[in-house]
Amino acid sequence: MTRENIQLNDCLACGAQCCRHVAMQTETPRCKREYDNIRWFLMHENVNVFVDDENDWLVEFKTRCSHLRADNTCEIYPDRPSVCRDYPPPGSPCEYGDADPPHKVLFTTAREFEEYLERKGIDWRYKKNEP
Ligand code: SF4
Ligand code: SF4
Repeated sequence: MTRENIQLNDCLACGAQCCRHVAMQTETPRCKREYDNIRWFLMHENVNVFVDDENDWLVEFKTRCSHLRADNTCEIYPDRPSVCRDYPPPGSPCEYGDADPPHKVLFTTAREFEEYLERKGIDWRYKKNEP
């Protein structure tokens, strides 16, 4: 659940948020086909899409790690994967501990994403055989 330099109390208080999702970078959508792919992600339950502080686009699967105990500790702590050991990166605060959310833009539904594009004047409607 934590790096050793993170105070355990902070981690327990946050509810182990980093153990409750998987986020993977995806391409920055720039055309109708890619807008359509983002819409497709968002049509699934427990899937979000967000833009982080580096303007990277990520797909987030809201799913709890099977090794997270009810008290928010890790049952395989000595053998946890490196992605768990390396979070947060050395010298960086945990993004979930900040008052600010860990994303610049968050979409939880396809309609939210469509409205975001419409506010930018972008026609997102993808039709077969269109580029
Ligand atoms: S392996 Fe442990 S530290 Fe890693 S996500 Fe699961 S519960 Fe959290
Ligand atoms: S999200 Fe941050 S504060 Fe919460 S458990 Fe993970 S490392 Fe600790």
